[in-house]
Amino acid sequence: MSIFISEETVEGADDGPLAGTTVAVKDNISTEGVRTTCGSAMLEDYVPPYDATVVERLKDAGADIVGKTNMDEFGMGTTTETSAFGATENPVADGRVPGGSSGGSAAAVAAGEADLALGSDTGGSVRCPAAFCGVVGIKPTYGLVSRYGLVAYANSLEQIGPFGSTVEEAAALLDVIAGPDERDATTRKEGADSDYAAAADGDVDGLSIGVPTELVEGADEGVVETFYDALDQLEAQGATTHEVSLESVEYAVQAYYVIAMSEASSNLARFDGVRYGHSGGYDGNWNEVFGRAREEGFGAEVKRRVLLGTYALSAGYHDKYYKQAQDARAWVKQDFDEALSEADVLASPTMPVPPMELGESLSDPLKMYLADANTVPVNLADLPAISVPAGETDGLPVGLQLVGPAFGEETIIRAASALD
Ligand code: GLN
Repeated sequence: MSIFISEETVEGADDGPLAGTTVAVKDNISTEGVRTTCGSAMLEDYVPPYDATVVERLKDAGADIVGKTNMDEFGMGTTTETSAFGATENPVADGRVPGGSSGGSAAAVAAGEADLALGSDTGGSVRCPAAFCGVVGIKPTYGLVSRYGLVAYANSLEQIGPFGSTVEEAAALLDVIAGPDERDATTRKEGADSDYAAAADGDVDGLSIGVPTELVEGADEGVVETFYDALDQLEAQGATTHEVSLESVEYAVQAYYVIAMSEASSNLARFDGVRYGHSGGYDGNWNEVFGRAREEGFGAEVKRRVLLGTYALSAGYHDKYYKQAQDARAWVKQDFDEALSEADVLASPTMPVPPMELGESLSDPLKMYLADANTVPVNLADLPAISVPAGETDGLPVGLQLVGPAFGEETIIRAASALD
């Protein structure tokens, strides 16, 4: 039940904005000379020859990396239980999952094993574990943070994001990793001279908060109560709230899983036991060796997704599934744009449920996918979001999610810091 897959230390520069700070890094982010497994037996012995851009930036900023954290295999999961290295227990809720897929990173911060941590968020994998472990997590706008050196799961959806105990600390880590990178052509000029940490001033006077009814309706009663208590606190500090509707989110989970699995089936084709990954041995028959490498190297959830993704992209089915999902994605984007034209930020519970018990969700993938209902729409829309602790229900942490306009990180950071 460990937090780290590899507990190796990499020292950063002597000075810089993060000097003296320890950072845990999710094990799908490449670290030169330090094993990077993606939580998979496929990459059990893989040692990258280069650093991800975010790792370079951490080192330059003076941070010390303290280890590579446990995660759902290739980021596919919501509980960190699909890891080939076993589950991680939630440090603040006995017998419960830490959330996923970046569960080890959130747990590292919650347990005090690291001051800060990096995760990746394809459909909620930073925000979900932040909510379940009672820490802060940020999913940046698509294109704010370089994905160079992040092992791809679904590249059109994912961003690397920071965890911290407070909004200000998470924002300070975002300052270090944000900004353009010539090695990732999807990065933009935004974030080059950011000062997100300074935005964490708690000033919500006059802030207009839209509450999407669809993202509250399906949540557990205790979660909803805690959520509204937190909104009351924001209103007491001068914010106003109003209901908004995001009709398209009804289709978001389906669209997300079609797109994520399709991209995954293509991205994971490189793990053939020759170029990358666990070897299937040598017997002269490429197909058999390829099949054996993947049979032995991938876990059940990864196999399920590669199969479904390959199917969704196959000739004759492409229009029926993939194209429909892209249409739904465009609709979700449009819905968010409209809601955000009448509000500064949108608020919802981060997760509709409190942390599940260990072992509870592995046997029911559909139930696990539905737990992502509030997080995946944000990735489909490429928008920034933060999860901040809202309080507890029955002694279990509840997270509040704030979504902002594209590159509106300062606004969500400012709003979230009022709850710190
Ligand atoms: N739970 C979602 C999935 O399994 C999100 C994972 C992620 O953000 N990496 O795809």
